[in-house]
Amino acid sequence: MKRGQGEIQTALAQLERESLRRERRTVEGFPVRESRVAIVSTGRPLIDFSSNDYLGLARHPEITTALKQSAESQGVGSGASHLVTGHGREHERLEEALAAFTGRERALLFSTGYMANLAVLTTLASRGESVLLDRLSHASLIDAACLSGARFKRYAHSDARSVERALADMPNTSVIATDGLFSMDGDVAPLDALANTARSHSAWLVVDDAHGLGVLGPTGRGALEESGLTTDDVPVLVGTLGKAFGTFGAFVMGSSELIELLIQRARSYIYTTALPQPLAAAARKALELSQRESWRRERVLMLAARFRLAAARAGIPLTGTAVAGTASAGSSAPTASATPSADTAPPKLTLSPIQPVMLGSSQAAMLAQQQLFAAGFCVVAIRPPTVPRGTARLRVTLSAGHSEAQVDQLVEALARICERCRESAA
Ligand SMILES: *Cc1c(COP(=O)(O)O)cnc(C)c1O
Repeated sequence: MKRGQGEIQTALAQLERESLRRERRTVEGFPVRESRVAIVSTGRPLIDFSSNDYLGLARHPEITTALKQSAESQGVGSGASHLVTGHGREHERLEEALAAFTGRERALLFSTGYMANLAVLTTLASRGESVLLDRLSHASLIDAACLSGARFKRYAHSDARSVERALADMPNTSVIATDGLFSMDGDVAPLDALANTARSHSAWLVVDDAHGLGVLGPTGRGALEESGLTTDDVPVLVGTLGKAFGTFGAFVMGSSELIELLIQRARSYIYTTALPQPLAAAARKALELSQRESWRRERVLMLAARFRLAAARAGIPLTGTAVAGTASAGSSAPTASATPSADTAPPKLTLSPIQPVMLGSSQAAMLAQQQLFAAGFCVVAIRPPTVPRGTARLRVTLSAGHSEAQVDQLVEALARICERCRESAA
């Protein structure tokens, strides 16, 4: 094929035709603190129901102050990687706070969750071994498995028996990896069953709980706390600071030996500039606030419950609901609606701030997004390849910063859109 501009134009035109072209929106500002109203590039204020700022910490004044104070005393740039001269006191303090928070021996900071996952899988798996991933795992876990050089296979979503079958084919499996709270579906992995399977096959169980930490569990310690699991069950835990903790960065937690090996081997740790210290100071403040202001966690889950109840009444197709006749035609959403088999418990529904509205086709999702923008809401359509074909959706996320009235207004707008959607399908 001839290389050049023509080829690029063809690729872009194809994305456009398939309703798969992505578009950036520029957020111009937030006129009212904490009210989730953002001015985006359309120039109009929109109520934001798409961010991962579940606890409403991203613009918290105490976090801003922590960042400023650290920047004034230490500057911004780290100047080098952690192993050269980039590692500072603020990094140390944050790692200690994170380890204490989750009751693990040690934590290791990374600039992003993407890099943390690359570090873990490339360190724990290598050529000649295998990695098993949930079919709906985050893209960074998939890329990490590719980069590790191990053979890898994706098992059926949240299906521990599918893991067992895969293990029979791949006896040399070194890692089983999954999201804790799934980013696009809002359901929790069957961590208990996966822990048993991993243990009996001597494989590492790696849980990326980017979305659950700070939100799930009685004290916000994430999907593991929600499932009653410990360090022995899940020896490797990955988390991010850019979601519930409202700042930026990520971490891996585990035994001292594991962390030491990552420092020695992980190329996404060694060959990159250390996270700015002011960000580490901000993240430590956010971690502290997530505990001190525990009402934030209660509030976001209360709003999620309110959203689900109102949406179910309005016939809006959510995941994990048993509302008759609302599943979109042709949608093969492999979510909590999967038929439970005789010897597996039916999927447990955990209340989370992630509440996808399943629409099926990318066109339907894009149209709904456009209609919501017109109605004053920023809810972004999620399409393949982020989610499997035929499962395009609106990913609604709740935040402690929303008001009850904002949630109710969103449900009303969604109900009108879904109604129109059903009429045009009929
Ligand atoms: C967001 C996310 C990541 C990536 O984290 P970043 O810090 O944004 O790079 C990794 N895993 C999961 C499950 C995520 O949702």
